[in-house]
Amino acid sequence: MKNLIIITAPSGSGKTTICKEIQKKENNIKFSISHTSRKIRPNEKNGVDYYFVTDEEFLDSIKKEDFVEWSFHFDCYYGTSKSQIQNSIDKKIPLLLEVDVKGALNIKKLFPKQTVSIFVEPPSLNELKIRLQKRGSDSNERIAKRLQRIEFELSHKSNFDFSIVNDKLEVATNKILEIIKNETKGVSYVT
Ligand code: ADP
Ligand code: 5GP
Repeated sequence: MKNLIIITAPSGSGKTTICKEIQKKENNIKFSISHTSRKIRPNEKNGVDYYFVTDEEFLDSIKKEDFVEWSFHFDCYYGTSKSQIQNSIDKKIPLLLEVDVKGALNIKKLFPKQTVSIFVEPPSLNELKIRLQKRGSDSNERIAKRLQRIEFELSHKSNFDFSIVNDKLEVATNKILEIIKNETKGVSYVT
């Protein structure tokens, strides 16, 4: 039974935006809240968008084996806690995980039977650059780092179950919702 829904994409493709749209339209899906050591953005809330922790706290959690997977990119740590995944599997609750390509591949490998994975593509490389610049949360240096990973991330597209181009936000969101509904049949939705 599939209840782990992974949304992955190159940074800036719009996966956070899509996940927020999904949450607005479908409030029976739980959203996995990752831990990160990156700085909080003005529009973010601790405990909602991420659990924002220090490097030391993150390293401590690694030592305690609290994460099912974690990665270090863009000079920050990001990780998914074991407890959230286990809880969702035990209770058969759909859990939406928004993670980078490496994290997505790891979760897929660990939970092959419970996972449906969706790769979100930007309409073009140029549009991706524009989106990262417009988001305004990164310096040019950080944007360059994010762009450097794109080739690696795009090369893994075929490893995921579905791939959706995020051109028009509403169209992409609806396509993803359709996939989720089809793929998570039998999962007991929370009420
Ligand atoms: P990611 O989570 O993949 O890094 P974000 O969701 O933060 O990407 O989106 C990056 C930027 O692109 C944001 O400023 C967001 O508002 C914008 N964006 C997302 N989807 C679209 C879209 N379909 N059309 C135009 N802009 C978009
Ligand atoms: P951002 O800084 O833009 O919020 O996220 C940067 C990247 O980290 C994105 O690709 C995002 O999906 C990814 N990310 C967020 N949470 C996790 C996580 O728990 N594990 C992994 N591996 N990547 C994550």
